[in-house]
Amino acid sequence: MVPTRPRILVVDDSRTQLDWLVQVLLREGYDVVSAATGREAIVKARTQTPDLVLLDMILPDMDGLEVLRMVKARPDERFLPVIILSVKSDVDSKVEGLRIGADDFIAKPFAEAEIVARCAAMLRIKTLQDQLRSTRRSLEEQSVTDGLTGLKNRRFFDERFPEEFRRAQRYSDPVSLMMIDLDHFKEVNDRYGHQMGDVVLRDAAAVIKASVRDPDICARYGGEEFAVILPKTHLGGALTVAERVWRGLKDKVYRQEVPAVGQVAVAEVRVTASLGLAFFPSKDILSAELLVKFADEALYQAKRSGRNNICLYQSQNYRYEAAHDP
Ligand code: GH3
Ligand code: MG
Ligand code: MG
Repeated sequence: MVPTRPRILVVDDSRTQLDWLVQVLLREGYDVVSAATGREAIVKARTQTPDLVLLDMILPDMDGLEVLRMVKARPDERFLPVIILSVKSDVDSKVEGLRIGADDFIAKPFAEAEIVARCAAMLRIKTLQDQLRSTRRSLEEQSVTDGLTGLKNRRFFDERFPEEFRRAQRYSDPVSLMMIDLDHFKEVNDRYGHQMGDVVLRDAAAVIKASVRDPDICARYGGEEFAVILPKTHLGGALTVAERVWRGLKDKVYRQEVPAVGQVAVAEVRVTASLGLAFFPSKDILSAELLVKFADEALYQAKRSGRNNICLYQSQNYRYEAAHDP
């Protein structure tokens, strides 16, 4: 891959100064974008994705500090360094600029060698910052992801579900929770080995994920138990999704190659699932913990009533929504 050239946005209202800076930086091999007004600078900082901004403090239409504030207020994750260009005597804007987030300053007049060296140093810092940010992001992602299935993990669920519940309460929105447990999963491990067990878990997770909509949150709740949060979803919708998950899992054939003498054999297994559903608003469900508890109770009711079905929690009593083969 050819590394892209760093792009520098140069902001200066003096034509001669701007032209000179552009020439110097182009000679150094940078990609250069220029702006002669504050407004133009703000727009280009946003649209041209520069890696560094050289910002003159005195501009015709706006204070350089105001431009700095706008450029630094971007909510995105990218680190965009800004070097202030100011006359030596203008200590105030230098200090204020550094205070509100400028990364360096260069006093005018400056020599070509100095501007070149400072830009290179700042771009090195930016590269390190970007690497740090992306490492942090992927670590954060890993810490809430289940390694085997790629679904969210229990830790994520425990943090996120109460938030979803509170949001539902505040906006009087419905929210449903679906608990899914694979039936007699231990037998898969016992008969075919743990590797096959892992294949089943991974592929079952994919079936679940493919059966829900994008805003729905799928998590691995425990060993072979999954939880799906269905925001803004009432009973009817949740039952439709549950039926789709139940059917998808029931029909899924899990395959794994197994070594056999002189050939490769393929082991195939099917595993059904039991599902428990609870939803808010519901008479007894006053907290996220209770919604989890009742979805779990519905799941155990589904197990007790023979497995391979869907059970729905309704206040005080259970209504069975046993799914049947067509
Ligand atoms: P039930 O129908 O009552 O749910 O029976 P079950 O056998 O599915 O339930 P049980 O809780 O008795 O067994 C769950 C099994 O899941 C036991 C455990 O070894 C297995 N398990 C949990 N996590 C993993 C995993 O990451 N990989 C594999 N291969 N097996 C796992
Ligand atoms: Mg099970
Ligand atoms: Mg279980």
